[in-house]
Amino acid sequence: MHNDISEIYFSEQDLADRVREMGEAITRDYAGVAGSDGIVVISILRGGAVFTCDLIRAIDLPLEVDFMAVSSYGNGVKSSGVVRILKDLNTDIRGRHVIIAEDIIDSGLTLKYLMQNLESRGPASMTVAALMRKNTENQADIPCRYVGFTCPDKFIVGYGLDYAERYRNLPYIGVLKPEIYQ
Ligand code: 5GP
Ligand code: MG
Ligand code: MG
Repeated sequence: MHNDISEIYFSEQDLADRVREMGEAITRDYAGVAGSDGIVVISILRGGAVFTCDLIRAIDLPLEVDFMAVSSYGNGVKSSGVVRILKDLNTDIRGRHVIIAEDIIDSGLTLKYLMQNLESRGPASMTVAALMRKNTENQADIPCRYVGFTCPDKFIVGYGLDYAERYRNLPYIGVLKPEIYQ
């Protein structure tokens, strides 16, 4: 285990198993609607990238993947609620079935903003696949169809999630020792 990690929450095997199940659920649910155009998976950079890459390989349907980069945290550990689009989609999602692939829902403010923004582009449908949802008080009410894990309100890193751009490459998800960010 990495020296800056106090505890492993979800092992590499836990993640692989759960993401596979999420992909299978999406495959079942969208088999009737995907059509030949397929679905559009929108990956929210940068935290959602690792999850997305595993998730799409577990979905057995025609699909496109596109990326959007948003910033809500800066280098801190709490969401500011002010969301900036740093990179927009290249895909026109009008009339398409969209699944947003996000790493974790904390305050829910990022997704709330994103869903409003994407809804205004006229997709045929839109759902959210979040690898994790934190047990946070006052979380925005986000309809999230696919949730991998519920997790406690602690700052975690790995499997795409960073602290100050580090630790994204850890193959597991773990709790960062508080002395690293205090
Ligand atoms: P929210 O807007 O829901 O508060 O959180 C937005 C983003 O903050 C998440 O998509 C994720 O990228 C990041 N985030 C939230 N909680 C954590 C955490 O515990 N660890 C890390 N590394 N990032 C988090
Ligand atoms: Mg994210
Ligand atoms: Mg981050």
